[in-house]
Amino acid sequence: MSHDKVTEEYGSLLFTDADMQERLPKPTYKELRRTIKEGKPLDLHVANEIAHAMKDWALEQGATHFTHWFQPLTGITSEKHDSFITPKGDGTILMAFSGKELVQGEPDASSFPSGGLRATFEARGYTVWDPMSPAFIKDEVLCIPTAFISYTGEALDKKTPLMRSEVALEKQAKRMLRLFGKQPRRVCTTVGPEQEYFLISEEDYKARPDLILTGRTLFGCEPAKGQELEEHYFGAIRPSVNAFMKEVDDELWKLGVPLRTKHNEVAPCQHEFAPIFEQGPLAIDDNLLTMEKLKLLATHHDLACLEHEKPFDYVNGSGKHNNWSISADGENLLEPGASPEDNLQFLVVLACLVAAVDEHADLLRASVASAGNDRRLGANEAPPAIISVFLGDALTPVVEALIKKEHAESQDREEIDLGVPALPNVLRDNTDRNRTSPFAFTGNKFEFRMCGSQQNLSDPNVVLNTAVAEQFDRFCAYVSERSDEAFPTVAMRFVRHTFRDHERILFDGNGYANAWEAEAERRGLPNLKSTADALPCLIKPENIALFDRYGVLNESESHARYVAAAEQYAKLINIEANTMSYMVRHMYLPALIDYSGELATAVATKAEIGITGRSEKELTRRITDGIDAISDAVATLEAKNKEARSIEDCGRQDRVYHDEVLPLMEELRTHVDGMERFCGHDWWPVPSYNKMLFYV
Ligand code: ADP
Ligand code: MG
Repeated sequence: MSHDKVTEEYGSLLFTDADMQERLPKPTYKELRRTIKEGKPLDLHVANEIAHAMKDWALEQGATHFTHWFQPLTGITSEKHDSFITPKGDGTILMAFSGKELVQGEPDASSFPSGGLRATFEARGYTVWDPMSPAFIKDEVLCIPTAFISYTGEALDKKTPLMRSEVALEKQAKRMLRLFGKQPRRVCTTVGPEQEYFLISEEDYKARPDLILTGRTLFGCEPAKGQELEEHYFGAIRPSVNAFMKEVDDELWKLGVPLRTKHNEVAPCQHEFAPIFEQGPLAIDDNLLTMEKLKLLATHHDLACLEHEKPFDYVNGSGKHNNWSISADGENLLEPGASPEDNLQFLVVLACLVAAVDEHADLLRASVASAGNDRRLGANEAPPAIISVFLGDALTPVVEALIKKEHAESQDREEIDLGVPALPNVLRDNTDRNRTSPFAFTGNKFEFRMCGSQQNLSDPNVVLNTAVAEQFDRFCAYVSERSDEAFPTVAMRFVRHTFRDHERILFDGNGYANAWEAEAERRGLPNLKSTADALPCLIKPENIALFDRYGVLNESESHARYVAAAEQYAKLINIEANTMSYMVRHMYLPALIDYSGELATAVATKAEIGITGRSEKELTRRITDGIDAISDAVATLEAKNKEARSIEDCGRQDRVYHDEVLPLMEELRTHVDGMERFCGHDWWPVPSYNKMLFYV
């Protein structure tokens, strides 16, 4: 698109606030604004008018259907399309869309995971329009962003708790800011998700059942070349990929997704898109749309987009960095600022964040736990499974000085002394990037780097928002209990002792080093290595209490989320094991039998005319042994998987999948990959790593 076309078409498929203002009668628009601001339910006649205007707009854009777009507990987004067509009864039709259809939908809740909420309550679930998030058009369908809740109001989706956590954070942040004499109208989070992904040829993709069924390669021997030359990151973007990225930009800009940066990543065939940050829930909607479009648009270029965290062994996997901050009427609360007063507010926010991460490290870890992400975290390419906070060269000395002072001074003699010179402005351009840290301060925001590339970022943000809300709440309580003292003194003392109490979470060293694991253990930091280890903390009483206290998730909702995630983990590994067994029995074994059979015939034929070689015979033997080893390994895996599948308790089932099934899958892979090295190219039934990663 030319630049004026970009300006003209940006957001053209989005029913924006400006569109509503233009198309709605003034009182209706006002009523809608009030709903958005105060969260009040919409009056039906107002909803009817909005629906009417929205439909007219959608028809003008060529839409024929509408859908309630929502974020189920597993997977990315869901939609069921209904057309606007309404028969008039005389053989003709009318395109209609009512307020009721806009405001509330009723998808078949029983076909979505509910983590058991359905069993205890009602089978029905409703999608409810989220007027904060604009409707948009995708493939001739008007998509209405919604929350998905049960008949009794329990959240059945990822968006509802996210919005509740934003409300909780806003409330506590406003209380905290009032102590600094500020009364912002609106406080919200800002999120900028950096999305990594792989692109391979569609032809190769279609030839690999493992990629199609599980999103990752379950087999494949090490390629001759990996990422060691570091040529991909800095290399030019391939023309086919460039054309793809251009189309992604064009399509997403039309949907108002502010994509900004696109580049190659470290591994061959790996790339990244990053948008300009937006309000948290909107940024997450936009990231989900981006993920969907990446997959779809790749096919226009004979490419396949892989969003799995670890599609290929031997090269880096993909993550999704969650850049996060809080904005109070546009003031970034993680901006260090230039004056000491602002510094104090900044230090309070920073201290609260550090405390939140330390106290709820287990929840943060669990919020990014998945079978896919387990293959990436801690594998010398991504942050380890241990949560720590990196503050960087500019902030660390400030925080250290604060901690020392706390140790040195008795509390009752403390004076009104901020003890900090204005923080250096260089912080803003802090390029000191410790890539090994899972939670790093990067100048005026934090970057949570453990998130997986295919995950919905709602989960980690729900934890962050709620945990920080709790600390703001504590700060307010701390100050109000000491109302006879000067506020700056009290605030400063809070900052000092908070940093001191949570010093163990601060770590600026190399997170990939083995020494850190031992050091973290000494510090008492949790090291939850796998999803099976991490998920159970979702139902620890103190964690259930946290979400309940701030109105984010009640006890049964927390429980349901645990069950849904735990079941998902077991189901995914079961599918992987089944796919392995399918590929081995239907592809690899027949190929190896063919190959060794032909070798044997060649050996025998040659012997008949008196030629006896050594290596052909040995190779035939070797492959025949390999066939036996593979056959045994696949049978063992199938038996164990059957046993695991029958376990009822999801916590125990996850353990068995992790501790017993995964190692058998690894073993089977080793045997098959070993044979790939010896089997002739023409016999091998799937494209190799060499081909997939380098011949695109
Ligand atoms: P990098 O060097 O890692 O690319 P950038 O500063 O360019 O870092 O930002 C990376 C991401 O962080 C972008 O998506 C950007 O919009 C986002 N970001 C920047 N500032 C904020 C903020 N205050 N809150 C949330 N995200 C932010
Ligand atoms: Mg980054």
